[in-house]
Amino acid sequence: MTDPRSAGAPIPFLDLAASHEEVAEEIALAWRQIVAASTFIGGEHVDRFEQEWATYCHSRHAVGVANGTDALLLALRALGVGPGDEVILPANTFVATAEAVVLAGAVPHFVDVDPDTLLMTAAHVEAGLTDRTAAVIAVHLYGQMCDMDALGRTCRRAGIALVEDAAQAHGATWQGRRAGSIGDVGCFSFYPGKNLGALGDAGAVVTQDAVLAERIRSLGDHGRRTGAKHLHDVVGTNSRLDAVQAAALRVKLRHLDGWNAVRRRAMQWYDEVLTGLDAELVRVSPHAESVHHIAAVLVPRREAVRAALAGMGVASGVHYPVPCHLQQAYAAYRIAPLPVCEQVADQLLSLPLFPTITYEQVVRVGRALEAALASGVRRAG
Ligand SMILES: *Cc1c(COP(=O)(O)O)cnc(C)c1O
Repeated sequence: MTDPRSAGAPIPFLDLAASHEEVAEEIALAWRQIVAASTFIGGEHVDRFEQEWATYCHSRHAVGVANGTDALLLALRALGVGPGDEVILPANTFVATAEAVVLAGAVPHFVDVDPDTLLMTAAHVEAGLTDRTAAVIAVHLYGQMCDMDALGRTCRRAGIALVEDAAQAHGATWQGRRAGSIGDVGCFSFYPGKNLGALGDAGAVVTQDAVLAERIRSLGDHGRRTGAKHLHDVVGTNSRLDAVQAAALRVKLRHLDGWNAVRRRAMQWYDEVLTGLDAELVRVSPHAESVHHIAAVLVPRREAVRAALAGMGVASGVHYPVPCHLQQAYAAYRIAPLPVCEQVADQLLSLPLFPTITYEQVVRVGRALEAALASGVRRAG
């Protein structure tokens, strides 16, 4: 396989292997120790990672779980959200956000997003409130946090819970406050491709509320009463972070700020090289610091542009081509058209972005995109 960093090599959407070169030795050492001790569920690495992640997220408590979907589901269940309740969420998100609502027994109430940031705002929530609304899930999509001041005010006034889906926002801030620390509970995924990724599936919730944290820990550990191995107070499930993943996450967490800084710099390069092109970067609010999980741009004739890019050796993605309310699985929850979500779904294009991306790679993506947009115009004309 050609090294994606050599001149002229195809540019991958994500180069996970390159980031892992920096941490492989350290993770291997930690894993050898874990195998020697053979403590795989719980133990020192899990406890330490939970403390380190809570601190990183400006939160009092962190509870490791099996993945980001479970983080959302257990958070909703711990908040008492269930049958008869509605949960407001944006339709422009990964399907897992909606899945968690339905798995909790509640009804997802999909709302539209702001055309500049592509995030849900307090105005969208206000318009979606009913007397059954029990919670709101703010999705910090592409690495940028929602306006948590306005959403917090709306939820407090309505007396409903505010959950943060921070699966794409590890280390992002709103007015200097970290993702996950502002709502009642913050939910993270450590899927390998996220800004902080495990070497497999993993997730966590963070909260300032000790009672909520204990409830989530119990729900993810078969409903066990704290400290009582054989007493089960509620019907829980098995959703725990394991030692092997926690150890890898601890090593990688030390690199997260550095990796996020490279993503930010790469976005400044993209801003520069896309100037004058018919490719509009999703805007970031001056109150937010994005960690740029995804480099999303809006382009015309997206499928033709993607194909032309692929022909020039530039990989790309789409986040997301079908908004949740238009997915077949969620047809029963379709109540109104969501014009912004529906319009951008055909225009969204995610450009290569990863912590080892170079200026040369970004320039090549820019040139390829310019050529792809031009060839599309010729074909269309
Ligand atoms: C990745 C992701 C999830 C789900 O996380 P998993 O660990 O894959 O279960 C949920 N919400 C958003 C916005 C995500 O990007």
